[in-house]
Amino acid sequence: MEKVTNGEVKRVVGVVCRRCKETYDPSSNAPSACRFHPSFFVCRRHDDQKRYYELGPNDPPYAAKFYDCCGAEDPSASGCTTSFHLSYDDA
Ligand SMILES: [Zn+2]
Ligand SMILES: [Zn+2]
Repeated sequence: MEKVTNGEVKRVVGVVCRRCKETYDPSSNAPSACRFHPSFFVCRRHDDQKRYYELGPNDPPYAAKFYDCCGAEDPSASGCTTSFHLSYDDA
């Protein structure tokens, strides 16, 4: 009987990033690979202390939807921050 030596082959097909939900190759992770918003998309009044935009005459003066981090009002706006992808295995 011959023993087949199976080297420890790590088969990494792809890891899902827990921030941007994209699949990435950990071996080609880079500091700018992940684009994300560090805060949530919220629906409330813009904070007057740090208002991100001037209200126009036709804008309702109440709750707006925007990213809490950068004020982007489009839920599909590309992330304002870049970093390494973060897998669910990472602490
Ligand atoms: Zn943002
Ligand atoms: Zn990512």
